[in-house]
Formats: sequence, C-alpha cells, structure tokens
Amino acid sequence: MLRRFRDVIRLGPVKVGTADDRRGRTKHTAACTAPRCGFSAEYDTRSAAELAARTHRCPAR
Ligand SMILES: [Zn+2]
Repeated sequence: MLRRFRDVIRLGPVKVGTADDRRGRTKHTAACTAPRCGFSAEYDTRSAAELAARTHRCPAR
C-alpha cells in the first residue's frame, strides 16, 4: 500500500482502508496482510470493501 490510508481497520487477515487517489476520488481498498496471499482490490464503496474483507477466503491460512 503506497498511498496514505485513513480509517484503516482489520477484518481477519485483511485490512480495509480509505484513500483519495490523485484525481480526488475516494477509493476503498481491501488488502490481505498474509505474506503468501497477495489479495488486494479497490472498491467504490466502503461497504463493498468491508464485505470483500469479511468474505475473503485466504489461501495462505
Ligand atoms: Zn488472504
């Protein structure tokens, strides 16, 4: 995660954070912290990102 995130929470192994991109749009990112997983995705809404984090089935576990 290279950008600055705010409101970072952890749901299981997945972190969800909110950040503004260079065009000023708000993006919500879900990123798994498990070293062998690599899951990371951006969503338009916070609830979508949190849902993805909750339902993430981590292959590294
Ligand atoms: Zn994972």
